[in-house]
Amino acid sequence: MAGQEPKAKSQQLRAVRGTRDILPPESALWNFVEAAARDVFRAYNFHEIRTPILEDLGLFQRAVGEETDVVGKEMFAWEDRARAESEKGQMLALRPENTAGVVRAYIEHKLWERPGLTKVFYIGPQFRRERPQKGRYRQFFQIGAEVIGPPANGSESAAVDAELLELLATFLDRLGISGWTLELNSIGCASDRARFNDALKQALSGVVEKMCVDCKRRAVTNPLRVFDCKVPADQPIIETLPKIADYLDEPCRAHFAAVRELLDAMSVAYTLNPRLVRGLDYYTRTAFEFIPRSGTLGAQNAILGGGRYDGLSESLGGPHAPGIGFAIGEDRLVMSLTESADAVAVKPDAYIAPLGSGMNKEAAKLARELRHHDAVIEMGDEGFKLKKSIETAVKLGARYVIIVGENEVKAGAFAVKRLDSGEQQNVPRAELAGFLTRPTR
Ligand code: AMP
Repeated sequence: MAGQEPKAKSQQLRAVRGTRDILPPESALWNFVEAAARDVFRAYNFHEIRTPILEDLGLFQRAVGEETDVVGKEMFAWEDRARAESEKGQMLALRPENTAGVVRAYIEHKLWERPGLTKVFYIGPQFRRERPQKGRYRQFFQIGAEVIGPPANGSESAAVDAELLELLATFLDRLGISGWTLELNSIGCASDRARFNDALKQALSGVVEKMCVDCKRRAVTNPLRVFDCKVPADQPIIETLPKIADYLDEPCRAHFAAVRELLDAMSVAYTLNPRLVRGLDYYTRTAFEFIPRSGTLGAQNAILGGGRYDGLSESLGGPHAPGIGFAIGEDRLVMSLTESADAVAVKPDAYIAPLGSGMNKEAAKLARELRHHDAVIEMGDEGFKLKKSIETAVKLGARYVIIVGENEVKAGAFAVKRLDSGEQQNVPRAELAGFLTRPTR
């Protein structure tokens, strides 16, 4: 209402803590990343999947594990309104990651009945109630991919792991993110992990008293998670613990060797990180993270992570369907780009300046013609002075201003002003679209 005092700051409506608006021109960087991702996925024959943001809480409890921070501490979950008074409402959750939803969909729609392997990608928001800071949000975006299928279709093959890792390397290179490191490990299969867990428990029993409260709890509930610990004082102790690599059985050892051999053959560089265990319970064998070199991300330096999850489908009631996937943190990826938003933002090819009354109609007709030829057009208004139109066009980064006045319409040719040089020429209507979309020298 006119004259009303602006609301006190505390009353202003704001984006919820840990969520944010992605505004132009920054959104151009997001478009740039997503377009590159779609191009790369197409070349590797991945197809898009869109699963719901809302899932049954039980899906994440089973797929990700209640002991993980993601499910145990960071979920946005609630009881939905019951359909009848006698019933309990369904427990719902905002997805904290997308692999669980993809595997649920794989089972629900029997995707194994389709030919070959299921190779899907997704781009979308995920939700975790983490303490927000630079690069860490409560709503963040992931670009991810999954390959799942029956073993008879090759889903267990090391070639699948290598293809996915090489795809990632190609994608990061395409975005101009140089100097990344691929950190690689194998965490073996369930039986390796059982033996490793025993050894770990034993090793921890002597040292856990000196560790943080989380590690004390993990030592009892899920010792492997001790490797997720970020507490500096615990790190020297963690260094002394056994390594999973020493507990792999022969098939897992051979699988890991084959992955490495394929990466070597394709000249995809990696470093082995025996402490890399990943935060989620369903991983088996190959586990990986890509770490960017540049310091743009501060403490939140992992751009992406992923790994194999050969037992996940069965643990959700599906068939034996080994799989592997990754999730890239899109927010962090965008932060680590060297490209500027301005360089990738779409700018108008031309700004149409209608001059004089009745010219908005002519401008609209011309804009329609030119846009049909893929020119990017912004328009002024017949009420604007030419000076104002030109100033606005310059601010918007347009390449040309097209003057639409009564004389031009009658003559069937328009005065076109090139904004960087100030050069002006008359261009016949029929040639205008071609003229505008030609690159300027
Ligand atoms: P994860 O599903 O935990 O393996 O995460 C995969 C990637 O998602 C990480 O490497 C991060 O880049 C990104 N990520 C995870 N949590 C967040 C968050 N709270 N805010 C922004 N990015 C995140």
